[in-house]
Amino acid sequence: MPRESQAKRQERAHLIVGVLAETYPDAKCALHYGNAFELLIATILSAQCTDERVNQVTAELFPRFGTPERIAAAKPEDIETAIRSTGFYRQKAKSLQSASRDIVEKFGGEVPRSLEELVSLRGVARKTANVVLGNCFGVPGLTIDTHMKRVNRRLGLTTEEDPVKIERALMPLIPEAEWTIYSHRVITHGREVCDARKPTCDRCPLSALCPQLL
Ligand code: SF4
Repeated sequence: MPRESQAKRQERAHLIVGVLAETYPDAKCALHYGNAFELLIATILSAQCTDERVNQVTAELFPRFGTPERIAAAKPEDIETAIRSTGFYRQKAKSLQSASRDIVEKFGGEVPRSLEELVSLRGVARKTANVVLGNCFGVPGLTIDTHMKRVNRRLGLTTEEDPVKIERALMPLIPEAEWTIYSHRVITHGREVCDARKPTCDRCPLSALCPQLL
């Protein structure tokens, strides 16, 4: 494909947004949660773990430790045992307790609503912060996980590797109001069609817009 101007790429990105909206009208966050705190915890646990496994773990975790006060006051070994099957459980338990303490002590027990405050919590990077902001507080955010990285690179919307750089590259291409839902749709597309090892390009609704096939 000849080098594409930014204007052409933007035009193509808008078409991609439209096709994804038609294909996955109901795409949403696959993690189960009832409030911003639960989504924050589930997203921290989802690092290097499947959403299905996280949902199994949080189904038992939340009834016992579903508030920042309870997680902050829990014995570390009780948290570790409860989240063990999500992997990296010692680090994750430390993050859950430290973030919960900060929420109690610095933010009055409420999950903060700004990116800067959210990323000040242990274990919370931009991706996690954007998940919470977009799904709970109506602040649009691009969530750069492994699917967003792979699919957007294959679609030629970025050549970057670093998640923060990918986010910056996508910002001018995707309408801001669509950032959160675009992330859900691309993640769904990455799971269902644009697989890491075996993308099924022959049944992909984006094939006419994808440089892989042009
Ligand atoms: S055409 Fe293939 S590589 Fe491009 S988005 Fe579709 S499945 Fe992925």
